[in-house]
Amino acid sequence: MQITIDNKSGFCFGVVNAIRISEEELAKDQLASLGDIVHNSKEVERLSNMGLQIISHEDMPNGLYKKVLIRAHGEPPSTYLTAAKLGIELIDATCPIVLKLQERIRKSYQEMLAVNGQVVIFGKEGHAEVIGLLGQTDGNAILIARADDIDKIDFRRPVRLYSQTTKDPNAYNAVSELIQERMHQMNGEAIDFKKYKTICGQMSGRAPRLSAFSKEHEVVIFVGGTKSSNAAALFAVCKVNNPNSYFVADVDGLNKEWFQGVKDVGISGATSTPTWLMEEVAKAIESITKEN
Ligand code: SF4
Repeated sequence: MQITIDNKSGFCFGVVNAIRISEEELAKDQLASLGDIVHNSKEVERLSNMGLQIISHEDMPNGLYKKVLIRAHGEPPSTYLTAAKLGIELIDATCPIVLKLQERIRKSYQEMLAVNGQVVIFGKEGHAEVIGLLGQTDGNAILIARADDIDKIDFRRPVRLYSQTTKDPNAYNAVSELIQERMHQMNGEAIDFKKYKTICGQMSGRAPRLSAFSKEHEVVIFVGGTKSSNAAALFAVCKVNNPNSYFVADVDGLNKEWFQGVKDVGISGATSTPTWLMEEVAKAIESITKEN
């Protein structure tokens, strides 16, 4: 049995950065993270064992947490205000790419206010990054989470379209085309529409590489957190390219029937999947196949 771990998978730059910052802080002091630092329960468990506490916004006022980490997804401005009021020191590990996107949206929102335009964000409802992005517009941007959400847009007014960094580029293009079509129907050629390329290269570059990787292997095991939208999007790429693709959160999700008569397995993971977890899965597959 040949088992290959995809060397292009695993943590993205933003997550590596956030984990490094939290490990450095934990070596000196207590630290609480506002939400899971990554959408991977196994990595969260490892950091919890080092002393990292996971808290929610509701926990901030209880006086127990002096230092609070902002994870790679970022936060809305209201979180910074709350921390300042409560005397909490924020350790800001927002991914620089997300920070830049927040700034662009903030600027665009001001510009749109001046011309009665609309900022539109394509993203997942309730996702931490999306909450942070909406916060840049005081919650006034229009969120497109499902196709019929585009009816919330006034097609006669200017539109600036942004995407959450981890969305599927094809789905983003489809939403953009739909909006432009509706704007054209209503206004003819005179439409004021701009779409910005805001899907992270770490994400958009992975999908084509993962398509090739999925086709190269008889069976693909995709390791990812069940709460990760990046993991869901990348697993969909595996499934399209190789129907023998299976999603697991960890070794407990493996099913020995997947490997019967199989000679070659590829293991890949999301931008939030630690390499050590994919190695654990590889070892478990090795022992399962020895038993078969
Ligand atoms: S996927 Fe990209 S934008 Fe998101 S945290 Fe990772 S590096 Fe940053």
